[in-house]
Amino acid sequence: AKAEGRARYKFFNQELTKIVRARLEVEAELRHAINKNELLVYYQPQFETNSNIIIGAEALVRWAHPSKGLIPPIHFIHVAEATGLISAIGTWVLNSACQQCALWFSQGLRDFTLAVNLSPYQFLHGDIEQSVASATAKTGFPAQHLELEITESTLMDREFDAIKIFNALRARGVRIAIDDFGTGYSSLSYLKRFPLDTLKIDRSFISDLPEDADDAAITQAIIAMAHSLRLKVLAEGVETEQQLKFLREADCDFYQGFLRSPAICAQDFEQLLKVNKRL
Ligand code: C2E
Ligand code: CA
Ligand code: CA
Ligand code: CA
Repeated sequence: AKAEGRARYKFFNQELTKIVRARLEVEAELRHAINKNELLVYYQPQFETNSNIIIGAEALVRWAHPSKGLIPPIHFIHVAEATGLISAIGTWVLNSACQQCALWFSQGLRDFTLAVNLSPYQFLHGDIEQSVASATAKTGFPAQHLELEITESTLMDREFDAIKIFNALRARGVRIAIDDFGTGYSSLSYLKRFPLDTLKIDRSFISDLPEDADDAAITQAIIAMAHSLRLKVLAEGVETEQQLKFLREADCDFYQGFLRSPAICAQDFEQLLKVNKRL
């Protein structure tokens, strides 16, 4: 039994070593990804529910790995978050997206908001206000067209500072959205305490609409509650016409999802902006 235990220990140890090694490899490569110009910003269009007009875009990072191809964020964001590399990546995404969107604005394509994800780490360790001030000043992108997406769990961490930071950002005209709304350990009271602009209903509530009676009730309730607090509502992960019809009838303001478009490269998004309103 002892030998068996030792063998098992050795096995786990080897497996663990493999996992740790793979992770270190990702970390080491990720460290250089920014300098080597391997990161890209993709844009997922956001639409007004009634008109299907594009009203915004969410910036979503991609890693164009030299040998592994285009890597989606699920494979590296957690490593970036755990190592603090997310600060550098987040700042890069903010600057890069602001620069691109400022260019579109200068070409007259200016009827949209740029939404950028803010990681919990950035929020707790970084100087968000400074990053935003610097990105908008450097690129000329108007802060009034910038929305920052934050998850509920980030809010619950350091409440006092969150309110202070939000107020400072909103004084600059920046909008604040709660991402993945309904999935965190949220207390609804924060909706009253924090200065917010938008609730993004998590995809998990949308995917089984309109059949799932519970999800339908929850979605309707979130929309009604948000509106009574003067917040806008965006539904995430809309994949079917039936879901969109439900959301339109429920008076949801905006949506994004594969039904209309996944996240696409800057060039493709520019084409959509050019035909926007003529859809
Ligand atoms: P998220 O912020 O909730 O972003 C939405 C994710 O849902 C995106 O995945 C998007 O491609 C995907 N999605 C959009 N519409 C649909 C749909 O109709 N169906 C389905 N099944 N999925 C849809 P993506 O780009 O792989 O990003 C995953 C997550 O990685 C993001 O979730 C976000 O938490 C994180 N992330 C991405 N870019 C950044 C970034 O620049 N900074 C930070 N901190 N996190 C990021
Ligand atoms: Ca998001
Ligand atoms: Ca989300
Ligand atoms: Ca469900």
